[in-house]
Amino acid sequence: MMSEKHLTNEQIEAYIEQGLDAWAHEHLAVCARCRARTARAQRVETALQTLPRAETPRDLAARICAVIELRVAQEEARRARMPLIAVATFFSALLAVWFGLEMLFVLEDNGALYFASLLASQPELLSTYSFDAVFALIELLPIGEIALTLFALLTALILAQQLVETARPPALAFK
Ligand SMILES: [Zn+2]
Repeated sequence: MMSEKHLTNEQIEAYIEQGLDAWAHEHLAVCARCRARTARAQRVETALQTLPRAETPRDLAARICAVIELRVAQEEARRARMPLIAVATFFSALLAVWFGLEMLFVLEDNGALYFASLLASQPELLSTYSFDAVFALIELLPIGEIALTLFALLTALILAQQLVETARPPALAFK
């Protein structure tokens, strides 16, 4: 892809109408992007010629092409963003799993899981020592790990939503 200097819409217009510009001709030979733009402009021009002559303003083709270019640029930007969002989503999900496991290890380590299962299997403990039991369980909760897990999960969810949005095909696609 030639990145230094592409043809302007006006140059493409002139090239289609006169086809004399040697520089434009050379550039088109090596730049697929401008070739596609020229082909597009050609199609718009041809389509416009089927309309009643008097009603088509002089720069209508150029204006239509400018709108199409904008859409194409947006589409390219969308496609360029997608891999990055996919990677970010993947790592956020990985992080959420990691923090979640960390949280489980802490819960297992400090006996919170055992304590919770004890309360579940012997509900009378809870009714006898209700406040003490609940507070004791809360004290065992690894708040930091839980917060990190929730935060990572939230991030992964938001990124996944963005990914779906980005991957969704646009309403109008220009080739
Ligand atoms: Zn070009």
